[in-house]
Amino acid sequence: VIIEQILKSKGRSVMTARHNDSIHEIASRLSHRKIGAIVIVGDNGKVDGIISERDIIRLVAEHGAQALSMPASDGMTRNVVSCSSASTIEEIMETMTNGRFRHLPVIEDGVLVGIISIGDVVKHHTAEVELEVTAMRGYLATG
Ligand code: AMP
Repeated sequence: VIIEQILKSKGRSVMTARHNDSIHEIASRLSHRKIGAIVIVGDNGKVDGIISERDIIRLVAEHGAQALSMPASDGMTRNVVSCSSASTIEEIMETMTNGRFRHLPVIEDGVLVGIISIGDVVKHHTAEVELEVTAMRGYLATG
């Protein structure tokens, strides 16, 4: 399974925010959309960072209530690891495991075209493995 197939079924919309949006604003969007991370884009639409619930927890632990009025840019991770539509599910499982993060923006020619969460990975990987098991059972039964 490649990322393109996952995007076809889950859609290509990505929640984004700006550098100056407050942590309070970001937290409320994560909560309303029931998602775990937001991509931070600059004026030119370029991906400049990613901020997840983990970053918000860290900011609150470090700064207390003041964290809520800080800009997104103070809490985001700037070195964003991404994948392409042609990446495979096995590749991105390895990327997420090695990087210890659960979100992977999909970038094609510098343009953000989707985002894959660890939930999407689990869902599609399970389906893939189940198909393989069914096929193998078929071979065993007929062989
Ligand atoms: P997560 O597990 O996605 O909640 O993220 C854990 C940490 O990794 C947070 O500090 C995030 O900002 C960061 N992070 C999440 N996704 C990525 C990514 N694709 N590239 C780089 N850092 C990330």
